[in-house]
Amino acid sequence: MTVSFPSLGLAPELLRALDEQGYQAPTPIQREAIPLALQGRDVVGCAQTGTGKTAAFLLPILQRLQRGRHGVLRALVLVPTRELAEQVLNSARAYGRHAGASSAAVYGGVGMEPQTRALKRGVDIVIATPGRLLDHMGRGHVDFSRLEVLVLDEADRMLDMGFAPDVHRILDALPNQRQTLFFSATISTDVDRLARRALNDHAAVDIGRRAEAAEGVEHVLVAVDLTAKRTLLAKLLQELPEGRTLVFTRTKFGAEKLARHLRGEGHGVEALHGDKTQGARNQALDRFKEGRARVLVATDVASRGIDVDDIAMVVNYDVPNDPEVYIHRVGRTARAGAAGVALTLMSPHEWLLMRDVEKLMGRTLAREIVPGFEPTVAPIQPEDRLELPRPQGPSVRPRRGGARRR
Ligand code: AMP
Repeated sequence: MTVSFPSLGLAPELLRALDEQGYQAPTPIQREAIPLALQGRDVVGCAQTGTGKTAAFLLPILQRLQRGRHGVLRALVLVPTRELAEQVLNSARAYGRHAGASSAAVYGGVGMEPQTRALKRGVDIVIATPGRLLDHMGRGHVDFSRLEVLVLDEADRMLDMGFAPDVHRILDALPNQRQTLFFSATISTDVDRLARRALNDHAAVDIGRRAEAAEGVEHVLVAVDLTAKRTLLAKLLQELPEGRTLVFTRTKFGAEKLARHLRGEGHGVEALHGDKTQGARNQALDRFKEGRARVLVATDVASRGIDVDDIAMVVNYDVPNDPEVYIHRVGRTARAGAAGVALTLMSPHEWLLMRDVEKLMGRTLAREIVPGFEPTVAPIQPEDRLELPRPQGPSVRPRRGGARRR
């Protein structure tokens, strides 16, 4: 099922900007969050960078701000770092270029003065890191009396960076009547506590906790030497059932090299990575979607925004450094109750990374070996049915009911 941006209820000025960005369809988090946020509901979204979460909160804000007064602070976005503040600011300007809202970023490490001027002049959206915002608040530069929307972006990182007391002080200064949009890559107990504190609307909806939805996935773990991976993959692609296959590599260079190799072996392959122009990326994606290329090799970064439903197999050409990334990658297959395969090629130096993935999943996988591709160091087989402790987290926690109360 393809959902389009217009069907989410977005205004023509925003649709035009999205079109200019080259976005063709909303990402899953955008599909879920935008209609809810447009209704004015509070949203708790579990989403990492790269899922399109920024547009998921900015578009409803920009739409809301089209009506009513301009030049007064009506939306506040709290972010953990200045880099993210700049990024969100750029996105706000890009998505809002025809919508008429002004925005400014406020973060530490640079002079106060230009920020003070912007705050005093009056902007509709302020994107801020907590510490610097408190500085401005202390000097009377900020008026929250007209604030309508608060966004907490990357809440888990804000807590990791020790911003909890600052965030609480900011929350104390905000009007209670407001919409709150809360995003975090992981939902630990602390993050959950902060969400409860920040959310005023008891009708908040948890979305995006889809990592556990990958229930129909068969995880296959193959131990192989690094240098033999590409030959093995070419062979496995021949032997495994037909179907759309998404291969993840850690680097752009790796993606391009692998794509070239597989193409040389006669497979229909496209590559998607950040060195390609948006036009070339769209073309690669279209060929994959239309089935003209069975295999798409992508970096994690470039795979953002890929919204293809019937992916039969996800290949981890390398084991990701961050176990959450494994869950995220694998979540691309076995959608909507379908079956899917997650094939991971693990070289000896990736054993420990794989253990981290298994810890997060709460289960171990047998180490398979393909004859002719035996690794030089034989892998240690995990004990049968070894039960690993399950950490708190979105991928392992049962989904809560839709409603939250203060
Ligand atoms: P974010 O997760 O918000 O950091 O976004 C990650 C990247 O995805 C950014 O470079 C966005 O420009 C891009 N992006 C966001 N939404 C879409 C979309 N619907 N289609 C294509 N790209 C998108």
